[in-house]
Amino acid sequence: MSAVLLDGKMLAARREEETLQRVNALKARGIEPGLAFILVGEDPASKVYVRSKNKACERCGIRSVTCHLPEDVTQEELERELKKLADDPSVHGMLLQLPIPRHLDEAAALACIPPEKDVDGFHPVNAGNLVNGIPGIRSCTPLGIMDLIALSGVKTEGKHAVVIGRSAIVGKPAALLLLEANCTVTICHSRTVDLAKYTREADILVSAVGKAGLITGDMVKPGAVVIDAGIARVDGKVVGDVDRQSVEPIAGFLSPVPGGCGPMTIAELMVNTLNIAEAKANV
Ligand code: NAD
Repeated sequence: MSAVLLDGKMLAARREEETLQRVNALKARGIEPGLAFILVGEDPASKVYVRSKNKACERCGIRSVTCHLPEDVTQEELERELKKLADDPSVHGMLLQLPIPRHLDEAAALACIPPEKDVDGFHPVNAGNLVNGIPGIRSCTPLGIMDLIALSGVKTEGKHAVVIGRSAIVGKPAALLLLEANCTVTICHSRTVDLAKYTREADILVSAVGKAGLITGDMVKPGAVVIDAGIARVDGKVVGDVDRQSVEPIAGFLSPVPGGCGPMTIAELMVNTLNIAEAKANV
């Protein structure tokens, strides 16, 4: 038996189609959802990410604006641009594409994005809401991970979920969403001793590290749902954390890289933007 592949591309297309319908309904009431991207410098990967998010906005009927600032922008100038967008009522969501150049203070810049426009869910207020189980904006990649798990049809309640990675962007919020979904959650990280001991116990395994081949078949419980959120490059090709050749015969479900968490992250960004615009319009 081979794992059922969780097709993130297909699911993302479905989410975007639903988003477009809701956007059209909002536009019929005279409200156009708007999403602003703030890009600093010429990092090629960041430019690719912003371009693909812009294209998703086009597909969903969301108006997008990109504020592209030079590599040597000062902290003061960056914050001034962020505050301008924060005060613009036609902008419902804002996203500062990370990483930003080293001379800039990332935390201070992110703090200029008001929590109600923080489509990435990174603001301490939104992170705190997640910890406290208060409704609010959740981070896009963890939302995509949960959507892919739901696609498998496997019920989360009472399941043992193991998350590898403890970043504020993916690992921690994914673990908290799994906890909210009534899983028993274990978080592993770079200092975990005997990683395989934990992963073999996982009914749901989420890997968010960025190390090709980290997860091999002997580390996976037969029939498990395996979500690969990692992104690495091997010989110029994009791969995830999971060694597909050895894991596919063991896992019950597997999200591939590419075509799993990547497209889902972008689709969730569209949904988050629309949710903010709808909430503002009291839909
Ligand atoms: P990060 O570097 O902040 O975190 C990586 C985590 O992996 C850390 O918590 C670290 O403790 C853990 N780790 C490192 N080596 C390990 C090991 N040998 N064993 C166990 N744990 C180990 O990265 P991040 O921002 O959390 O992103 C994680 C991965 O997800 C990256 O590959 C990133 O590119 C990818 N990502 C994908 C999307 C997407 O849209 N698909 C979005 C965000 C991040």
